[in-house]
Amino acid sequence: MTHDTTAARRLLLVVADGVRPDVLAEEMDAGRAPTLAALRARGSAHTVTTSFPSVTGPAYVPFLMGQHPARVGLPGLRWYDRSRTLRWAPGQSRSYAGIDIWHVDGDVAAHVPTLLEYAQPSLAAMSMIGRGATHGRIGRGVGWMLRAAPAHFRGDLQGWRRVERQATAAFLSRFRTVRPRMAVLAILSADKFAHKHGARSAVVRTAIADVDAAVAQALAIASRDGWRESLHVWVTGDHGHDEVTNHEDLHGWLQGEGLRVRAHPQLRVSNPDVVLMVGGNAMAHLYFAPGERERRWWHAHAATWNRLLDRLVERPAIDLLAVNRDAHTVQVRHAAHGAAEVRRHDGPQGSRWSYVCNDGDPLGLGGTLRDLDADAAWHATQASAYPDALVQLSWLGASSRSGDVIVSAASGWDLRARFEPVPHVSTHGALLREQMLVPLIVDCATTRVPQRTADIVPSALDLLAIRAHAEFDGRSFLR
Ligand SMILES: [Zn+2]
Repeated sequence: MTHDTTAARRLLLVVADGVRPDVLAEEMDAGRAPTLAALRARGSAHTVTTSFPSVTGPAYVPFLMGQHPARVGLPGLRWYDRSRTLRWAPGQSRSYAGIDIWHVDGDVAAHVPTLLEYAQPSLAAMSMIGRGATHGRIGRGVGWMLRAAPAHFRGDLQGWRRVERQATAAFLSRFRTVRPRMAVLAILSADKFAHKHGARSAVVRTAIADVDAAVAQALAIASRDGWRESLHVWVTGDHGHDEVTNHEDLHGWLQGEGLRVRAHPQLRVSNPDVVLMVGGNAMAHLYFAPGERERRWWHAHAATWNRLLDRLVERPAIDLLAVNRDAHTVQVRHAAHGAAEVRRHDGPQGSRWSYVCNDGDPLGLGGTLRDLDADAAWHATQASAYPDALVQLSWLGASSRSGDVIVSAASGWDLRARFEPVPHVSTHGALLREQMLVPLIVDCATTRVPQRTADIVPSALDLLAIRAHAEFDGRSFLR
């Protein structure tokens, strides 16, 4: 007699925020993350690509909604609401680094379900996206914010970690009673420690031990109460981390060019020439003619702004400029390696990408590439300095909420020299490899190699035997 247990399966997705795949592997190999190592032994561990910008908030979209964040309305940690659709937005701007974090669930497209909506009962803790969780979003209420805020603004990282451990404990206690079909637990202290002490520092490793301990406790709860067999645990990350030694004051540089700049925290600047939205801090959106409510593509701005871009791309802090020419075309510029176009064609068989080297090879892919599907586009870029660049630049550039120009910082640089509560020695946000690669541990057999964090949603639905009539940017690795 065959016995189908899939209907009873449950998934706990753990987000090790800002943990590099190599550091996580070191911790498992050294025996300091034994529970995670056991999951790996049961299934497999992979290095996959996140979305661009490689930053907390937007980068939660792929593994909770299966899409590129800009496609559901989250083009960055900070973005400018050109069309004035937001009801509450100082300076028509969003920054999920502050209390706007409460707006994330409302800002993402309502018609695209989250995993927490697909699979219920569901539970979320400390997750940037918690929409649809039937049994609460621990760590996101006013009480939790008030507990965490003083530590956050003082830069008191151990204080922050204590609040986070309380949130994890609250999550585990509800996890025990609810037995959620879908649960998301995010642990963010590794990212905070990495910014201050480096991504390979000892304190980051203690935060990884916290992740390991949380998974061990979740498994112990399920074992004790007799539902261990139904529980799967997958672990992923939202962005990488890389050393930063130089901080470009992009805000100040634009002002030095004689421009009126609106940027956080100076949102009261009226009639700005340009709006600068840095997020990560190694990426930024630039919005030109921000008084216009309708996005016009680059040909409308080129005559006025091309010379500024020529000067900007020459700055040592700047690696790539992505100039959004229309909804299907992004021009990529690099000071030394020239310019090329990333073009997307949306056909009945899905989207295809081309990389057309008219005037250089800024992404270092070796020349023009034509008509690649999502799988081929990933393979063509996966070993390069800019993994998954074609798909990522293309979807980001197409969003009506994105800037006219997107800036990706050079290695060793970020783009925000002022106004950070904690001095950064490590950064993320850019399209660079060290910032785009994240870990994925899957505790069951896979049928193909996972590529993107967006693969997690269709795979989770397969695991839970839920049929979704939706198009995902990712592809199941269980089918
Ligand atoms: Zn961070």
